[in-house]
Amino acid sequence: MDAGPLSTPLYADRVRVYPRRVRGPYRQIKWALLGICLAVYYLLPWLRWDRGPNAPGQALLIDMEAGRAYFFMIEIWPQEVYLLTGLLVLGAVTLFLVTSILGRVWCGYACPQTVWTDLFMAVERLIEGDRNARMKRDQGPTTLLTVGLKTAKHGVWLLIAAATGGAWVLYFNDAPTVTREIFTGQSTLSVYFFIGLFTATTYLLAGWAREQVCTYMCPWPRFQAAMQDEHSLAVTYRAWRGEERGKHKQGDSWEGRGDCVDCRACVAVCPTGIDIRDGQQLECINCGLCIDACNEVMRKVDRPLNLIAFATLSGETARAQGKEAPYRLIRPRTIIYALVLLIASAAMLAALLLRPATELHVLKDRMPIFVMLSDGDVRNGYTLKILNKMRGENALRLTLEGLPGATIAVAGTTGTAAALDLEAKPDAVATFQIHVRAERGVLHGKETPIVFRLKDGGGNEVAKRETVFAGPGQ
Ligand code: SF4
Ligand code: SF4
Repeated sequence: MDAGPLSTPLYADRVRVYPRRVRGPYRQIKWALLGICLAVYYLLPWLRWDRGPNAPGQALLIDMEAGRAYFFMIEIWPQEVYLLTGLLVLGAVTLFLVTSILGRVWCGYACPQTVWTDLFMAVERLIEGDRNARMKRDQGPTTLLTVGLKTAKHGVWLLIAAATGGAWVLYFNDAPTVTREIFTGQSTLSVYFFIGLFTATTYLLAGWAREQVCTYMCPWPRFQAAMQDEHSLAVTYRAWRGEERGKHKQGDSWEGRGDCVDCRACVAVCPTGIDIRDGQQLECINCGLCIDACNEVMRKVDRPLNLIAFATLSGETARAQGKEAPYRLIRPRTIIYALVLLIASAAMLAALLLRPATELHVLKDRMPIFVMLSDGDVRNGYTLKILNKMRGENALRLTLEGLPGATIAVAGTTGTAAALDLEAKPDAVATFQIHVRAERGVLHGKETPIVFRLKDGGGNEVAKRETVFAGPGQ
């Protein structure tokens, strides 16, 4: 008796994929992007950037200890983490736009999992040979040569993985210093831990898990369907041209049959091991290698190229009926993504350009909310944090608005001035405990609105913060 859907097993053994070498324009693009991505990843931390004295000279650095992120001329403080969020939003919307136009090209060409897997596969081919040689060796008896080749392959994989883990920690430390420390055994435990962690994950994900990461672990293939429509480009087998498929001998007629000669070259080169002739599949990363493989075959059998091609569903439906369907780049979906991208970019640019060099944060003391002094005056305590993002000392003057005749003093002193001079060290957060004292008669009920203003040496206001002054009420 059929148990319905429950009869489908929930677990299936992995069918090992042995991708074959392929040549063609899409492979060339993949090689070029692989080179660029790896060069950027490994070399970027070595790029220097002069920020003046007492500042790190690394173009891209996330300094966890100091709580700063440096991106060339931009320096981000912990209080400005929204800028990093903005960057992530920009990245996500760009990905939405690209996916709606070109399908999963991110997966096929630039995703780190794809780039490192491609690199590991190239090493494998170089050491163990192409698809047939590897399959034959894996299915045959274990010889000394097999053990030697596999040991060499895993050795090179581990070296690449260690270089990848090693490069990762350079983004969080001064690259030349930490490299010297790593090799002389003087680095911190956390540095060695993260190198080990990233070495292990790179080796396992790119060497062993490979296409399974894309198929089972990554959520993106599930999301991306929502960004695509019938006008999005995707690697497509033109069944209307290819079917009826079948073997073809030289000199045989092409009448009454399709162009697909059922050679399975498209399957042999696929890094995820699928047959694109079965239609669009979750596993397809849109790498285009099957296009290169099939075009090689089409050239040999002297048939038109692009039996497999980057095509749209709407275009292919029209072509199957003998009509022409021009590609539609501008459509509601792409317009909306482009607009969102434009607005988000403008907002990010404005946030970057308008960010103040000095910030004032005020926290009112809650315990006690206020203190009644023996002469009848009321006193409130505040914690002031002044963020001086400049490279020099910042001599500032703090004034108060909203309490006529009030005085400000650093806690523990007995100042009677209406203003307070404060020094903020360069590139640091200065914290001050202050007391504000006011006559009870000037208060408006239990909470009187007040404004702290910070002015620089030239008398220009650099920051202000609104808060309240608490009192006993009427
Ligand atoms: S089916 Fe083609 S485009 Fe899709 S993953 Fe395989 S080779 Fe790449
Ligand atoms: S490579 Fe082209 S001709 Fe060969 S099986 Fe695939 S689609 Fe058919």
